Amino acid sequence: MAGMSTPLRSPAPGERRIHALNDQLINQIAAGEVIERPASVVKELVENSLDAGARRIEVTVEQGGVKLIRVTDDGCGIHAEDLPLALSRHATSKLGDLRELERIASMGFRGEALPSIASVSRLQVQSHRIGQDLAWSVIPGAEPAPCAHPTGTTVEVRDLFYNTPARRKFLRTEKTELGHIDQVLRRLALARFDVAFRLVHDRRESFHLRAAEDQAGRDRRLGELLGGGFAEQSLYFIHEAAGMRLHGWVGLPGFSRSQADMQFFYVNGRMVRDRVVTHAVRQAYDDVLFHGRHPAYVLYFDLDPVLVDVNVHPTKHEVRFRESRLVHDFVFRTLHEVMARTRPGAGETFADSGADGTPPRPDVARSPAPRPAAFPAGQGSLGLGVRDRAASYRLDIAAQAPVVASPATGAFRPEPAAPAIPADDEDEMPPLGFAIGQLLGVYVLSQNRDGLVLVDMHAAHERITYERLKTSFEAGRVPSQPLLVPVSVRVSPREVALAEEHADVMAGLGLEVGLLAQDALVVRSVPYQLRDADVERLLRDVLADLAVHGTSERIKREIFDVLATMACHGSVRANRRLTLDEMNALLRDMERTERANQCNHGRPTWVQIGLDELDKWFKRGQ
Ligand code: ADP
Ligand code: MG
Repeated sequence: MAGMSTPLRSPAPGERRIHALNDQLINQIAAGEVIERPASVVKELVENSLDAGARRIEVTVEQGGVKLIRVTDDGCGIHAEDLPLALSRHATSKLGDLRELERIASMGFRGEALPSIASVSRLQVQSHRIGQDLAWSVIPGAEPAPCAHPTGTTVEVRDLFYNTPARRKFLRTEKTELGHIDQVLRRLALARFDVAFRLVHDRRESFHLRAAEDQAGRDRRLGELLGGGFAEQSLYFIHEAAGMRLHGWVGLPGFSRSQADMQFFYVNGRMVRDRVVTHAVRQAYDDVLFHGRHPAYVLYFDLDPVLVDVNVHPTKHEVRFRESRLVHDFVFRTLHEVMARTRPGAGETFADSGADGTPPRPDVARSPAPRPAAFPAGQGSLGLGVRDRAASYRLDIAAQAPVVASPATGAFRPEPAAPAIPADDEDEMPPLGFAIGQLLGVYVLSQNRDGLVLVDMHAAHERITYERLKTSFEAGRVPSQPLLVPVSVRVSPREVALAEEHADVMAGLGLEVGLLAQDALVVRSVPYQLRDADVERLLRDVLADLAVHGTSERIKREIFDVLATMACHGSVRANRRLTLDEMNALLRDMERTERANQCNHGRPTWVQIGLDELDKWFKRGQ
């Protein structure tokens, strides 16, 4: 911070007496926490605008925000008499007493942002309070002066860090800083679809998002913010229970990312990074995601503000849940259920919101209700990919696999799509239709209402077998296998305590552990499926899980991994001839099986090629 880079010698211990810091220095220290870079200023100012009820927010920046950041809103404005207070420390209009602190509904409440920013830049506030005749302008240390400004507020921040060179040295290039600003604004825009946002950099418009009135508008903004790929390959759902509500878009397993860079989680409208939540989401995606890939999601979690503490960190990126186990279970169970429904035809019964333009209504959603985002029929890129596949078959399997459009969405074409089958057959037509043959011993071809269905025989069968194995595993108790030679493991006293506390849980999972000494445990039996596993590693990992999460999914996971391997070996291989009856049986099994849209490794099991697409290839009806 301010003084730290000065070449001055620090006083020796005992050389200086205690004294109170001056206001400027106090504010600069606070700025060190909240104002890391230009993007932090943008976050604070825009959050203030949102708290003021703004419907339009415009952000203007120059030179990556270092030279200028100006945020203009049409919110309620600041009362002239309050203007100097707004710039002083610990002054806020958002908090009255401790009871209110425990149920924060606004983005800000600490009363630190403006004085902190003012202490490391040249700041000016202009504001026109709603219902007042005049607008007023103020700079720190001066009396407010009348100015011209429509109802709302403009905060202008110039020459950021001009007086704190140490901080300035940490700044990156203009382009990088602009990137951070862009990201901060996008996050806020994802949280508030009802507010219009505009970003202008060096006099050029970076983006302009209009307020979204309905679900179609929200879908459009989602596409503008995260790209069309996510909007098309995600499911919208909403689920409410026990006073908690989770809704938003989850990327289909086929739309995974190499980085965890498309994960947005909002708690009561505030974007947070939270370990409990991240873990729950990750776990829900567990066996539908390609190995080492990251899910993409935009999720909104709402609960009684009393149950969540946002006063944990100055920048409020973290929260603390009062009942973190409950939250974990709620998030996990909801998303797990959504994933279970990624099977052919599953969404049709839940398509009760969104695609038709109606906003999602929490009160009508009984259970997780996945809804495919509107899927543009006969999309160019897919058509091209499929055409290429016909030409160079082998090459295309690898190239196409990750980009095929969501099979699930294919089944939800809007009504106008021409039916492929005579109308009287429609009622009995199952989602995946009826088999017409086998291609090169790898794919099953089928005809359904929308056109042609291609099924990867092995991938589909693998998922079906795996789900069956899991179901029968979960129905019975876990069979456990006594070890011929019990394995002793040296652990910490804390781990001994954990093992004692959770002995029942572990026994229920087939892991029998006894106490050997103050610092040693002995494993007497392990789950049958894990009889060849590294026992010591298993125990340590399970204890680590228990220490961190108070629960261990690990044994189950490891068993599931074994079941997945078994399923893979036990499933139909390529080049096996199937009869039409066998193929149809496979299609019906897929429709019944949870998560059947992707194999155990997260690859898609089927694709839909619509009749309209086929028509396009042959230039029919053009
Ligand atoms: P906090 O947001 O934690 O209250 P700030 O320092 O960010 O603290 O802002 C101080 C006060 O200034 C706010 O409580 C609010 O009353 C007022 N204020 C700041 N920005 C705006 C704005 N854009 N519109 C209306 N009031 C504002
Ligand atoms: Mg604030």
